[in-house]
Amino acid sequence: MIVKIKCPKCGVEGSISMVESNYEGPYKCWKCRELFTIKMENNELKSCEPLSQEEFDRQQEIEAMKAKFKRQ
Ligand SMILES: [Zn+2]
Repeated sequence: MIVKIKCPKCGVEGSISMVESNYEGPYKCWKCRELFTIKMENNELKSCEPLSQEEFDRQQEIEAMKAKFKRQ
C-alpha cells in the first residue's frame, strides 16, 4: 500500500510504498531532496530523523537486500 508522508522540512507530501504496516528505513523528499530515517508503525509515522547522504546510501543497500530475500 501507499502511505503519505509529509516532509518535516518543506511540508510537501510524498509517498512510500509499504510492504508491511511497520517500516523503518530511508526516505527522501522528492521536492527539497532532504533525507530522513522514518519509522512507521501500523501505517502511521512514528519518528523522522535527518539522515546524511552516506547513511542514506547504506540504508538503501540494506533495504534492497531485504527486498531480495523476500522475493526468494
Ligand atoms: Zn521536503
